[in-house]
Amino acid sequence: MIRIGDLYERLLAAYGPQHWWPAEKPFEIMAGALLVQRSTWTSTEASLAALKKRGLMTPQAMAAADLQAIEACIQGSGFFRSKAARLKRLAKFLTGSWSVRRMRATPTPMLRKTLLGLDGVGPETADAILLYAFGRPAVIVDEYLRRLTQRLTADPEPPTDAAIRRWVEAEIFDAPRLNELHALVVAHGKNVCGKTPQCSECEIRTLCLTGKGASDS
Ligand code: SF4
Repeated sequence: MIRIGDLYERLLAAYGPQHWWPAEKPFEIMAGALLVQRSTWTSTEASLAALKKRGLMTPQAMAAADLQAIEACIQGSGFFRSKAARLKRLAKFLTGSWSVRRMRATPTPMLRKTLLGLDGVGPETADAILLYAFGRPAVIVDEYLRRLTQRLTADPEPPTDAAIRRWVEAEIFDAPRLNELHALVVAHGKNVCGKTPQCSECEIRTLCLTGKGASDS
């Protein structure tokens, strides 16, 4: 298996710094992490902009808003009814016993457990929130990283999420590089290593057992 540090350097050389996450405030990042599920970042951005324009981009405003008002802002994000309900529940949670301030002061393992207890928040979303909203060192194991890891090793058995996490954490354990790594892996997946890999155009082909075995034709 190649070293994650080598992969990181090669991806950075190929794509350059990605400057994620485009949103700024923790609540906006949390809302974006829920909205982007089974959707695109473009439609998520449009939904976030509509929520902002309507003055709903604070936990207090969203908790007090009608569900229909939230739904109207996020219709382009898909599954908008269930997402609106989740956003409202998140806002109520953050205006009840919890708050963004309390989350900031909570140690990472406890914060991750708390996030995982929220409606619609699975491991990938929880780690995205930890990393991008709170600057915690979290490895985001998503479909892009799973696919890339399996192709790098050409192993017929997909690696477990825990194994991927251990591989990354062996060399990359600070939030800025984990942030960059996730963005680079997504860029690589969108560019050449999607469902059908374009190995002949791949900048990291020499690192990849699948690429080495692929025909150029
Ligand atoms: S060589 Fe092919 S399979 Fe390997 S990382 Fe590149 S595009 Fe993906």
